Amino acid sequence: MGEPGGRVLVAGSANADFVVHAAHIPAPGETVLGGDLAIVPGGKGANQAVAAARAGGASTAMLVALGDDAAAGILEASLTGAGVALHIVRSARATGAALITVSDAAENAITVAPGANADLAPGHLPTLSGVDWLMLQLETPIETVTAYARAARRAGVKVMLNVAPAQAVPAELLAAVDVLVANEEELAVLVGQAGSLADRLAKLDVPTAIVTLGARGCCALVDGRIVLQPAFRVTATDTTAAGDTFCGTLAAALARGDALAAALAAASAAAALATTRPGAQSSIPARAEVKAFMA
Ligand code: ADP
Repeated sequence: MGEPGGRVLVAGSANADFVVHAAHIPAPGETVLGGDLAIVPGGKGANQAVAAARAGGASTAMLVALGDDAAAGILEASLTGAGVALHIVRSARATGAALITVSDAAENAITVAPGANADLAPGHLPTLSGVDWLMLQLETPIETVTAYARAARRAGVKVMLNVAPAQAVPAELLAAVDVLVANEEELAVLVGQAGSLADRLAKLDVPTAIVTLGARGCCALVDGRIVLQPAFRVTATDTTAAGDTFCGTLAAALARGDALAAALAAASAAAALATTRPGAQSSIPARAEVKAFMA
């Protein structure tokens, strides 16, 4: 599994989140006046890379496609500021963006423009030499994700796949996955809702299948054995990026040599802390905070 101080490569998406608060979400044809615009770094891949880097004990790099624009600068600054080494594919398209309206009732409406993320291609994968874990999600083209997972499997690199956003996954991708992470909705899309959690995780037929259950914690099926990790008790105020914090922290913990139970505990603690703070990357805690929280 790689020696302590291992390496994680995250390959995936980065988006600039354009967030505005308004009294209500506009109906079709309606214009509403909102508050000040916040432009913040997000995207599942970038969030997970920041989480892996802040988790510590492993070095983290990210393969990411960005445009040649101001949004790219915001994302690069956030990633490098967290200590993520970057492999950037420079795209002629705009950097990925999410247009987010948040209402007074805490509902949101989100439009994602994938932009540069759609340009990430199989040929862009950097050398996997020295990499222990490849971390993937589904906000970049599925053919690319599949090609990366297969290349990692051939190179003896472990693959963690976060099946988010929810969608069906080709069998050849699942066949190259060592650890799969899904939330409840994503698991339902993959294997339906009939049967026990253990039966549904078993249907995925991967060595380790994990379902995250929000405030109820998470459940892993490892070679036929169930491992339960309760959530840490917090007052959650913003669950944005809880799943991403969980995934990135888990990848770093496994890369630095933690056993699965310890890695699940660290991932859950980091994710719980992230729910107590606003935003995506800004909410992800550093290892020292997580250790203090768990002590
Ligand atoms: P996603 O954000 O992908 O929907 P979940 O909501 O399942 O994923 O959250 C991922 C993990 O974050 C959970 O397994 C848990 O460890 C932690 N978490 C989420 N919500 C809470 C909460 N309210 N209190 C404590 N931990 C939480």
